[in-house]
Amino acid sequence: MAIDRDATLRWIELFAAQIELHREQLVQLDAAIGDGDHGTNMNRGMQRSLEKLRATEQADPSAVLKTVAMTLISTVGGAAGPLYGTLLLALASGLAGHAEVDLPTYAAAWRASVDGVQARGGAQLGDKTMVDALVPAVDALEQATDLSAGLQAAAAAAEQGMLATTPLEARKGRASYLGERSVGHQDPGATSTYYLLESAAEAFAS
Ligand SMILES: [Mg+2]
Repeated sequence: MAIDRDATLRWIELFAAQIELHREQLVQLDAAIGDGDHGTNMNRGMQRSLEKLRATEQADPSAVLKTVAMTLISTVGGAAGPLYGTLLLALASGLAGHAEVDLPTYAAAWRASVDGVQARGGAQLGDKTMVDALVPAVDALEQATDLSAGLQAAAAAAEQGMLATTPLEARKGRASYLGERSVGHQDPGATSTYYLLESAAEAFAS
């Protein structure tokens, strides 16, 4: 299975479906340590992204991701829109010019994207943010020698990173205002990020 335009479209469709399915879970997680809008916002952004993708022809994987990034930036409020936008825009730029993307190119583009998210949001590993799911996932992808197995490993690492946010005290974003009271809650951004990686594993493995 190659990473081409159609597989990239399938990835985005699967991610949108995961967000829709888990909208209420993401709302509940964000209500516990934030303002409770993550599920609603991400669902709106992904549904709008699907509409844009259906309305316009996308030339390659990079074009698909750029369309989604721009849509999330313009439709998702709070921190999630700009951060997911930064992630997917950087991924789009790392894949630019490739009709089919190989594993080394894909892994390098993901690393640059995660670096971009960290530069934008200022979060380090352990701050209880989406970075806690992203960094282990990209570490796993970089060590892979096979695309499908690498994405499965990346999704598993993202899941572990997501689960590991529960005992952490938030140091970035709205949750950090809660201090110690943020302990004991799974981070909503790390959770939606896990769905992004899980969707990628499914889309590019079948
Ligand atoms: Mg929120």
